[in-house]
Amino acid sequence: MARSGSRSDNGLTGIQLEHIGKRFGEVTVLADLSLQVSRGELCCLLGPSGCGKTTALRIINGLLEAETGRIFLHGADITNVPPQKRNLGMVFQSYALFPQMNVFENVAYGMRRRKLPADIIRQKVTEVLGIVRLPGIEKRRIHELSGGQQQRVALARALVIEPQALLLDEPLSNLDARLRADMREEIRRIQRELGMTTIYVTHDQEEAMSIADRIVIMNRGKIEQTGTPRAIYENPATEFVSSFVGNINLFNGTIENGKLSCLGAQFPIDPAIMNPGEVTCALRPENIQFISGGSIRGVVREVSYLGSIIRYKIGLQHSTETISVQTPATDAAYVIGDTIGMTFDPKDLRLFPRSRQ
Ligand code: ATP
Repeated sequence: MARSGSRSDNGLTGIQLEHIGKRFGEVTVLADLSLQVSRGELCCLLGPSGCGKTTALRIINGLLEAETGRIFLHGADITNVPPQKRNLGMVFQSYALFPQMNVFENVAYGMRRRKLPADIIRQKVTEVLGIVRLPGIEKRRIHELSGGQQQRVALARALVIEPQALLLDEPLSNLDARLRADMREEIRRIQRELGMTTIYVTHDQEEAMSIADRIVIMNRGKIEQTGTPRAIYENPATEFVSSFVGNINLFNGTIENGKLSCLGAQFPIDPAIMNPGEVTCALRPENIQFISGGSIRGVVREVSYLGSIIRYKIGLQHSTETISVQTPATDAAYVIGDTIGMTFDPKDLRLFPRSRQ
């Protein structure tokens, strides 16, 4: 682990990663990763499998060593502090509860290791089980609990030591969809109530969008973009981010003489946005409008009714491309085989240098 300089405090609160690098053998898993998580913020690390999210979390909690870089927790340099002294709460995907112990002993474990008095331990266990809304289950065995209850016990065990920050690694992956949605609201409530600085690792973009103050999108060991869920959705900085967060249409375009040619039509384009040439266009399905006489022509191939919205797959007349269009369910509905015109406001397009054939 890097031991550069004599700094022991950077004067900031929250968690800072500075130029973290990690290799496994020949493979660089994290390349110069720098990140600032503010005090009380819930920051999601979001990215595809293998992009280095868990590795980053394990370096923060000290279970792995980085080759380069430094880690600060509320200003203190913890780069070389042993894991058990970092005072971080950790919740794993597998819960990692002790099956031979009851709920009380699981939650009390960290405090017993710290040799706290029995009456304090009892009081804190009761208190934290109240926070996770599981009062009175101290004597239950782990196998007698549902998946959601086990996840709450894991959270209680992480919180009871009054950590300076909370690290969650895919905490809801083992739960069914309904319970996942309930539990993420619950985690959000507890995190806000306690003002707990939190890093939450997930590969589920909907989970990240719904729970995070800020999302860090990772790809191949690097940060592609950091921003609020809204900023990431509305202003993706790269083609990767645009396709990873939410549904999006990606298609080829050409800019020439102040016009963008795409989807068999032409649109005026602000020359300041992009130089002439070949581009990849990204456009959300909800930003395409059906309009009679619209310059993009197509035929409805699929219709999915999703309650408040209807999602269409449209085969374009001029090519073999298909695009997704999403309208409120209150709008006029089309059926498979209908021929329709479409348009969009060029302001809603995001353009990237061409990377696709
Ligand atoms: P997932 O969402 O699948 O958990 P992740 O983004 O958390 O993925 P990591 O677990 O951080 O990814 O793994 C990043 C890369 O490092 C992967 O290619 C993985 O195979 C590799 N890796 C992780 N741990 C080790 C290890 N102990 N030895 C060798 N390679 C490893």
